[in-house]
Amino acid sequence: MRIYDDIQLDYCDVLLRPKRSRLASRNDVEIQREYDFKWCPRTLKATGIIASNMATTGTFAIAREMQKQHLMCALHKHYSAEELIDFLTKNKAEFSSNELLFISSGVSDADYEKITTVLKTGLVQNVCIDVANGYSPYLIDYVSKVRKAWPDLLIMAGNVVTGDMCEDLILSGADIVKIGIGPGSVCTTRKLTGVGRPQFSTVIECADAAHGVSGTVCADGGCTVPGDICKSFCAGADFVMLGGMLAGHEESGGELCTKHIQTNELDLIDDKTCALKIEEHQYKTFYGMSSAFAQEKHYGGMKKYRASEGKLVELPFRGPLEPTLLSILGGIRSCMTYIGAKRLKDMPKCATFYRVNRQLNTIFGNE
Ligand code: 5GP
Repeated sequence: MRIYDDIQLDYCDVLLRPKRSRLASRNDVEIQREYDFKWCPRTLKATGIIASNMATTGTFAIAREMQKQHLMCALHKHYSAEELIDFLTKNKAEFSSNELLFISSGVSDADYEKITTVLKTGLVQNVCIDVANGYSPYLIDYVSKVRKAWPDLLIMAGNVVTGDMCEDLILSGADIVKIGIGPGSVCTTRKLTGVGRPQFSTVIECADAAHGVSGTVCADGGCTVPGDICKSFCAGADFVMLGGMLAGHEESGGELCTKHIQTNELDLIDDKTCALKIEEHQYKTFYGMSSAFAQEKHYGGMKKYRASEGKLVELPFRGPLEPTLLSILGGIRSCMTYIGAKRLKDMPKCATFYRVNRQLNTIFGNE
C-alpha cells in the first residue's frame, strides 16, 4: 500500500494571479485556437469547449447552439445511426461542415457497428469513445481497432486521470484523452467506490504527459462556473467538457416540470381573506449516465451486479442556452486579459496560481 503525499487540488483550491499585460481590451484576445493532432491529419479551429455526450447535454439542439459560438458538442450515444445521419446531413447544410461534432461510442460490438454505419457516410470524422473506467483493457483494444480501421479519424478516448494511461491511450491511437474520474456534478463514483482524483491536479499531470507524446487532453467534469473553465485551460487542458453547466436549458434534454411552491408572503384574495402566496417555478431534470434513472431509461433496467454511480437532479429551468455560452466566453476573454494571454493556447504559459483556502464570498448566496 502506498500513499501519495503531494496535495491534490480541485479548481476551487486555486485562483489565478493577475499580471501586468499589454492587452488593452477583451477584444484583443483570440479565443479560437487552431488544433493539430497526433494521428488525425486535419486541423481544427474552435474554442475547445465541448458539450458532454450525456443524454441531456449531447443533444442535437445543444449542438446547434454550441456551433453558433464555434464551440463543440459530443452527441450522445443513444441516438440511432439513422437519427445521427439525418441530423448530420441537415447540420452540414446549415454550418457547412460537421467538424465541431463528435459521435459517441462505448466499446461494444454494437457500438462499433453503429459508428461504422455513421462514419461510412463521410458526414462526420470525430468520435468520442468513453467508458466509466478507462483503465479497462477493452478501451485500449477498442481505440486501436478504430484507429486501424479509420486512420484519419479524430479520436477522443477516456476517462482516465493519470499520465501513464494518457500516454498509453495516445500511443494506441487516441488524439485526445478525456480525463476525469468522479468530478462530475451528477457523479457518485467517489462516494460509491472511493476512487477518483481532484480535477485540477489531474489536468496538470495528464496535459503534461499527453503533450509529451504529441497528444491533447479534454478535461471532463467538475466545472461549475466560467472561472473553472479558465483554470482548466490554464492548467493545460486543450479541451474542456461540460455537463452540468449546460444542463437545465431549453435546448437540454430532460423533463421540464412545473412546481407550485408556497411562500411566506401573504396574497390578498378579497378585502377579508388572504392566503399564503403560491409561486410557480419551472425545473428541468438532469441525470448522470450511470444513474439508476439512466439505466432504466436507456438500457431497460439496472443490472443486478451494477450499482448506480450517478444521480438524478431537478435544476431550476434556465431558459435559452445562448446567454450562458456568452457569459462563459466573456469569462474566458476577461481571464485572458487579466493574465496577459493573447491566444487561448498561451493561457498555461501565462498562468500563475495561488493556492487558496477560500475562493468565493458567499454571504449573499452562491450566485
Ligand atoms: P459536469 O460538467 O456535470 O461536472 O460533468 C460532466 C461529466 O460527468 C460527463 O462528461 C461524464 O464524464 C461524467 N458523468 C456523467 N454522468 C455520470 C455518471 O452517472 N457517473 C459518473 N461517474 N460520471 C458521470
